[in-house]
Amino acid sequence: MYKQILEQLQPTQTKLVAVSKTKPVEAIQRLYDQGQRIFGESKAQELTPKYEELPKDIEWHMIGHLQRNKVKYIAPYISLIHSVDSPRLLKEVNKQARKEDRVIDCLLQFHIADEESKYGFNWDTAVDLLEGESYAQMEHIRIVGVMGMATFTENTNQVRREFQELHRIFKKLKSDYFAGEERFKELSMGMSGDYQIALEEGSTMVRIGTLLFGEREYGD
Ligand SMILES: *Cc1c(COP(=O)(O)O)cnc(C)c1O
Repeated sequence: MYKQILEQLQPTQTKLVAVSKTKPVEAIQRLYDQGQRIFGESKAQELTPKYEELPKDIEWHMIGHLQRNKVKYIAPYISLIHSVDSPRLLKEVNKQARKEDRVIDCLLQFHIADEESKYGFNWDTAVDLLEGESYAQMEHIRIVGVMGMATFTENTNQVRREFQELHRIFKKLKSDYFAGEERFKELSMGMSGDYQIALEEGSTMVRIGTLLFGEREYGD
């Protein structure tokens, strides 16, 4: 399955984030041995021991909701945080990155799904952030794109519309706030069940777990 997915991502050079949450280090090592270097996890307390045990050239991505009091554990090594879902979290990432003398790449997570969710930006809250004084002073984070999750539904038209909406948000942010900034280029969307639609709608990063590692025993 791994090679097949890579082939599908090849024409558009879309990056594969192998979502290894709940999976043991042995399973991660096996995919690493096949060449995979980007892995995604959704809990800081699960990620840090994996980081310590596994090869140091792995690029670790945080993809799940991140509590502010957990940022300090991942700040020393995290490559990309997909799930920045509030200004307060971004501020904390900036603070912890400063302590580590790093600049941490982040994506703004947008709430595009139908489902009720406490997490994620919408256009207005993102504008408030980007035009605010606090953001102007954050020198230890870089916003490099956006992330979103479509509704969990069989209705592929709806999923497609939601991805299209995220793509529109991405383009508008790019032109309004990141014009000419090469680094703002990531559109993280697509999971095991919907990554093919996401590819058609312009995804630059897909986050795939189940198709690579099998079903997870416990949730999230
Ligand atoms: C778990 C998770 C994924 C991967 O889901 P699969 O359906 O197993 O591919 C992708 N993105 C986020 C944010 C996740 O929490």
